[in-house]
Amino acid sequence: MTVLVASDLDRTLIYSTAALALGMPDERAPRLLCVETYEQRPLSYMTETAAALLAELGAAVTFVPTTTRTPEQYARINLPGPAPEFAICANGGELLVRGVPDAGWRARVRRTLDAECATLAEVHERLVRTADPAWLLKERTAAGLFAYLVVDRPLLPDAWVKELAAWAQERGWTVSVQGRKLYAVPKPLTKSAAVAEVARRTGAERVLAAGDSLLDADLLLAADRAWRPGHGELADIGWTAPHVTALTARGVAAGEEIVRAFGEG
Ligand SMILES: [Mg+2]
Repeated sequence: MTVLVASDLDRTLIYSTAALALGMPDERAPRLLCVETYEQRPLSYMTETAAALLAELGAAVTFVPTTTRTPEQYARINLPGPAPEFAICANGGELLVRGVPDAGWRARVRRTLDAECATLAEVHERLVRTADPAWLLKERTAAGLFAYLVVDRPLLPDAWVKELAAWAQERGWTVSVQGRKLYAVPKPLTKSAAVAEVARRTGAERVLAAGDSLLDADLLLAADRAWRPGHGELADIGWTAPHVTALTARGVAAGEEIVRAFGEG
C-alpha cells in the first residue's frame, strides 16, 4: 500500500522555544534538535527522538511537508530524512516538486480564487485600515495569495477578530489566529486540495495527516487517519472527527507522538 503522510509543520512537527511547552523539570527535558535558523539564530526544534523517527518515516512513505509558510520561509527549515519530492506551501497555493514551484498548479489555484473570492487587495486594505498600531507589529502579503499580521497577542481584541472573520466570510475568505500571527486566507486555498493533487500524481492509496490550526481542519478531514496535538486552535475549540485522534500531549512532545503515530499508520 502506498502511503502519503501530509503534515503541517509549525506547532505540529516543529516548535519555536515559545511553543515547546516542555512542562517537566529541566533535568528531565528531552534533547532537542534545531531544524531551522533565522537571521543566524536557532528558531525551530524537534526532539531528537522525533527527528530519528521522521528520518525513518521519510524512507518508508511519501512524506509531504504541508505548510502555510511561503516557499522562502519553508526553505529555511532543514528536516531530517530524505529531501521530500513534494512539499506544499502557501496553504496549498504552491506545490514544490523537488524544490521547484509547479507553474500549472499555481495557475489552477489562481483561476479558482479569481472566480470565487474577493481580491487580496480588498482584504489587505481592510486589514491595514482597521488594525490598531497598539497591537499591530507587522503586516504582510504572502505569495500574492493571502495576508497575515504579526500581532501583540495579549492586546489583540477578540471582538476585532470576530468582526473581521464575519466580514471575510461574506467575501469567500477565512481568518485563523496562530500564536502571534493572524491569517486571512481565501477559502478555496486549502492544504487538502494540494494534497489531493499529490495523491493523484503519486497514486497514494492511503493518506495520513496532522495539524494544529483551523487552516488544517480540511487537511485532517480529507485524510484516512489524522492526529492533532493537545494545543492550538483546534484543541482550544475541542475540534475532532471520527477518524481524527485528539492527542493530550502538548508542545514538542506532541510533535514526537505525531511522528510515531505516522510510522505506525
Ligand atoms: Mg501549525
